[in-house]
Amino acid sequence: MIHFVGAGPGAADLITLRGAALLEKADCVIYAGSLVNPALLKRCKPSCKIYNSAQMTLEQVIARMEETEQAGGDTVRLHTGDPSLYGAIAEQMSALDARGISYDVTPGVSSFCAAAAALPAEYTLPGVSQTLILTRLAGRTPSPEDFSRLAGMGVSMAVFLSAGMLERLQEELLRGGTYTMDTPAALVYKASWPEEKRVCCTVGTLAKAGAEAGISSTALVLVGDFLSKSGERSLLYHPGFSTLFREAQP
Ligand code: SAH
Repeated sequence: MIHFVGAGPGAADLITLRGAALLEKADCVIYAGSLVNPALLKRCKPSCKIYNSAQMTLEQVIARMEETEQAGGDTVRLHTGDPSLYGAIAEQMSALDARGISYDVTPGVSSFCAAAAALPAEYTLPGVSQTLILTRLAGRTPSPEDFSRLAGMGVSMAVFLSAGMLERLQEELLRGGTYTMDTPAALVYKASWPEEKRVCCTVGTLAKAGAEAGISSTALVLVGDFLSKSGERSLLYHPGFSTLFREAQP
């Protein structure tokens, strides 16, 4: 059996209990070496075969999985954050489907959650934004979406894989026509790792702030008025609002 597992954003204790148990039982672990914390591999049993997928092709990854299957073993494919976001798991699942090999997925704490925790901030602030866009700028990997149209929605945004293109990111955010130079923005580098950095700035100072902090990779760019933390009070905990679990007070 193949288990796709979310490793969490970095800190070794932010993997789920289920993910940790699967790592402890695995006969083969293929981990995304560019971002997965190697400390997690200390959970593996001594006989476990460990491969770094940063140096492998899809074909090589599938070949290691097939080998382990044929020997009757379990493989953990360890992806950073949550595997469903920029994890390239769909192509692995298709290859496994074609070979009749079964698999399951254990979710992980995504870096966009760890970045909000690091600041700390709430993406869905009443009266400010009830929507979060998770996206990336097109780079060497193209994107089918028009980034500036997404930015034009003016909602909360978490931008992955774009910290090396901050000048262009800043331009595209402004091109959307809704965010202004003064809209709050933040860069969170290696959220939950010991070397984590948090930089608060505005859309207009994003590129300068990134350059000054020396951030050009492994960071999320967060954008939106949610960062100013000045939303309205929630109805959920308002004394005058009834819910399924609580009657409104007069
Ligand atoms: N599946 C991952 C995302 C992988 S794409 C997840 O759910 O988080 C890799 C990108 O994710 C990086 O370029 C960066 O933008 C972001 N990222 C991953 N780990 C991060 C961390 N600890 N702190 C900030 N950004 C991170």
